[in-house]
Amino acid sequence: METRTEISSLGEFGLIQRINKGIRTTLPESVRGIGDDAAVIDLGEEFGLLTSDMFLEGIHFDLTFFPLKHLGYKIIAAGISDIAAMNGIPRQVTINLALSNRFSVEAVDELYEGMKLACKDFNVDLVGGDTTSSRSGLIISVSVFGKVKKDKIAYRNTAQPNDLLCVTGDLGGAYMGLQLLEREKQVFLANPNMQPELEGKDYVIQRQLRPEARMDVVYELDEAGVIPTSMIDLSDGLASDLLHICAQSGVGAVIFEERLPIDEQTYLAASELNIGAATAALNGGEDYELLFTVSQSAYEQIKNNPKITFIGYITDKKGEVELHTKGDSRVPLTAQGWNA
Ligand code: ADP
Ligand code: MG
Repeated sequence: METRTEISSLGEFGLIQRINKGIRTTLPESVRGIGDDAAVIDLGEEFGLLTSDMFLEGIHFDLTFFPLKHLGYKIIAAGISDIAAMNGIPRQVTINLALSNRFSVEAVDELYEGMKLACKDFNVDLVGGDTTSSRSGLIISVSVFGKVKKDKIAYRNTAQPNDLLCVTGDLGGAYMGLQLLEREKQVFLANPNMQPELEGKDYVIQRQLRPEARMDVVYELDEAGVIPTSMIDLSDGLASDLLHICAQSGVGAVIFEERLPIDEQTYLAASELNIGAATAALNGGEDYELLFTVSQSAYEQIKNNPKITFIGYITDKKGEVELHTKGDSRVPLTAQGWNA
């Protein structure tokens, strides 16, 4: 009998590793293949960067509360975030679209309004794509091409012991925004006359519906003369993405719970929904902030940037990633949270 292995037994990352094992690049200009936020292609003067992401209705977004215009914006921002994570500059995007007959021409217009806005904000050109039909709602994939000077590229696998760990912005907001939107959806389904209770929650809702790629920080690091020693964007959550940096760099890390940047609205929403705010910050995805390391000598150049928080440091203890809690205990971080 043929063997059948469930994908769930490997998980997403295990599956990608398995695919990666069977693939070898052969062209001299394919500098980096599977394994980072974007592939790296030698263009001579510079490196080209190529990344792609896919978003499915019912898996990645729920159109009962996700306005199409925002969705268009978010998808472009998410793609660009992977270019930012290489310390690169995005240039061109392509969009693949699969639509069921539930969608009208006007709906597609709305989606593209959001995409055009994102293209303008991030200064990229939408240069192509593909359109087809779908039996299961809306499917969108985005590919982004970018570039970076060869000596400025930031990989995931080059963090060094004693480097400082930095994150941009604040964490856990997109996750809490999603929890609130889902709660309101349930309330609305139970009683369509109920008005949504989202007052004072605009920031976390916006974090979910309209995230930004942190190109601003990429430019500010450049102006400060700082090249991250490693970088990844926070799409899956701080814990999971920090584990990627550590595993791929062959290092460990210590982060401090009290240093995690968490917005007031994230705290409020977390306590309202009985979720630990630190849990949201560590495991909530879709913040699209940057997690990066710098050598200690870069501290002076960026310490006054209000967009950057120092949350810990890299150690030489391979694979050991620890959280120092506010209660002064040390717990190992896992992708799902931590084993307290
Ligand atoms: P990100 O969250 O930054 O978009 P992913 O975790 O999706 O990164 O992907 C990690 C790496 O695996 C990337 O280099 C990506 O190009 C690669 N990858 C993901 N899925 C596939 C696939 N089906 N085939 C080949 N490479 C893949
Ligand atoms: Mg990424």
